[in-house]
Amino acid sequence: MATATAPKRKTSRSHQTKMLIDGKWRDAVSGKTFATYNPATEEEIAQVAEGEAADIDLAVKAARKAFDSGPWRKMDARDRGRLINKLADLIELNIDELAALETLDNGKPIAESRNADLPLVIDCLRYYAGWADKIHGQTIPVRGNYFCYTRKEPVGVAGQIIPWNFPMLMVAWKWGPALAAGCTIVMKPAEQTPLSCLRMGELALEAGFPEGVINIVPGFGETAGGALVDHPGVDKVAFTGSTEVGKIIMRNAANSLKRVTLELGGKSPNIVFADADLDAAVDGAMLGLYLNQGQCCCAGSRLFVEDKVYDATIEKLARKASARKLGDPFDPTTEQGPQVDKTQFDKILGYIESGKQQGAKCVTGGERFGEKGYFIKPTIFSEVKDEMTIAREEIFGPVLQVLRFKDIEEVVKRANTTDYGLAAAVWTRDIGKAHGIANRIRAGTVWVNCYDVFDAAAPFGGFKQSGMGRELGEKALDNYTELKTVTVAMD
Ligand code: ADP
Repeated sequence: MATATAPKRKTSRSHQTKMLIDGKWRDAVSGKTFATYNPATEEEIAQVAEGEAADIDLAVKAARKAFDSGPWRKMDARDRGRLINKLADLIELNIDELAALETLDNGKPIAESRNADLPLVIDCLRYYAGWADKIHGQTIPVRGNYFCYTRKEPVGVAGQIIPWNFPMLMVAWKWGPALAAGCTIVMKPAEQTPLSCLRMGELALEAGFPEGVINIVPGFGETAGGALVDHPGVDKVAFTGSTEVGKIIMRNAANSLKRVTLELGGKSPNIVFADADLDAAVDGAMLGLYLNQGQCCCAGSRLFVEDKVYDATIEKLARKASARKLGDPFDPTTEQGPQVDKTQFDKILGYIESGKQQGAKCVTGGERFGEKGYFIKPTIFSEVKDEMTIAREEIFGPVLQVLRFKDIEEVVKRANTTDYGLAAAVWTRDIGKAHGIANRIRAGTVWVNCYDVFDAAAPFGGFKQSGMGRELGEKALDNYTELKTVTVAMD
C-alpha cells in the first residue's frame, strides 16, 4: 500500500508569514499567530500572523489612502495593465516554487498545482492585464442639447475573502479584475492556506505595485473576515466560500450597503444519456468529481445516468476510482492528495456514514486511506435516491453519488430540484438534446460533453443559492466598477 508519507521536501526559500499592510510586512497588532498545517502529514508548517479587527483597520486605511490619494489613481490604465503583466511574469518565473508551496499548504498533488492551478493563475492575470485600458463607457443620445456620456470608475476599496481549495487561483480571480479596474485591495486568505497568497504579495511588491494597493491580512473568518465585511472604509466585498457564510456576509454588508458578490456552494448535476460516448462520460465524471480531492464548488456530485447504461457506467467508474493513486502529494504521479484539514476530513466521513445508513450502496472506497494525513479513498455510492442527505448537501470531498433516470423530463426536473445552481453537465451525441437541456438547467455554467473547462474569458458564477454576480470574463469587471453618467449642456 502506498502510504501517506510526509513530503520531506520544503520549498527552497523561507516564506513570508507576516501580513502585508501599506507595502510593509508586519506582525499582528496583538502579536498573535496561528499555525498552518501540512494536511498530508498533519504537521505544522509555520506560524502566521493572526489578523483581527485592529489589523483590518490598518489595512483598510492603507487601501483607502492608496485609492483616494496615492499614485495608483493617477496611473494610466495601460501602466496598471503593465504592472499586472509584470506580476504574471514573476509568477511564471517562480512557478515551481509556488506550485510546491501550494501543495505543501493545501495538499493538492504537485502535478495539479504545477500544471493546472499555476498556468490558470498566470493566464487569468494576463487576461485582466489586457482589460485595464479597455474599460470605458458610452456616449448616449439624450433628448435636448446635451452631451451625455458614461464612465466606468473603480468602485474603491475591495475587501476580498477567499477559500482554501484553490488558494492562488482564487487570488488571481479576485486581484485580476479589481486591479484592472483600478481598485485597491484588502485580502483575507483562508486560515488553512495563507502561504501562497503571502508569497504572491511579495511578488506584487517586487512587480512594483504602489504601497497600499494590495494588502493581505491572514486570520480567521469571524474575526478578520468579519471585520473586513463590517469596516466602513470598504466599498465592496467579494467572497468565495460556503453558502452558509455567504448569507452571513450579505447580511452584515447590508449595514453599510456595500457592493457584494458571492461565489458559493453547489450540488451540480452531471447527466449521462445512453447515447453518449460512455468512456468519455466516465472520464468526465471522474474529473468532474475527483479533481482537487472533490473540493470544488462546481463538483459534479450528482451523476444522473440513464437506466440503460447505469450498470455499465457504475462498473467503469468503480474500476477507475479504485485505481486512483493516492499518497504523497509531492510525488508527480500522485492523483489524489489529502483533504485540506481534519474538519473537512471528519465532515466527509460523516457524509459517507450517512449514505451507508440511508441505504445507498457503497460500491468502492467509503473509508480513510492510510493512518496519517487526511486521505479519503475515492468513494462511489450507487442506488442513491434524491431525498438522501448525500444527494442534497454539498460534501466537498471525493464522494460520488450516482442516480438512475429514465427520460429527459424527469432528469431535468430532478437536476433542478436543489437550492444550488452553480454548474451542470450533459453527455449525449444528440446536439438538439444537449442544447435543449443546457437551456433548461438552472445553473450558471453548463458543460456539454466536457467538465471543468475553465477559461479566464468565460464568466463563472451561480444561479439561486450558489451566488450573486459572475467572476471571470468581461463580466467580472462590473464587480469592481461604478457607472457614472455625465451630462453637459452645450451651446
Ligand atoms: P469552508 O467551510 O469551506 O472553510 P468558509 O465559507 O467557512 O468555507 O470559508 C471561506 C472563507 O470565508 C475563509 O477565508 C474564511 O475564513 C472566511 N469566513 C468564514 N466565516 C466568515 C465570516 N463570518 N465572515 C467573514 N469571513 C468568513
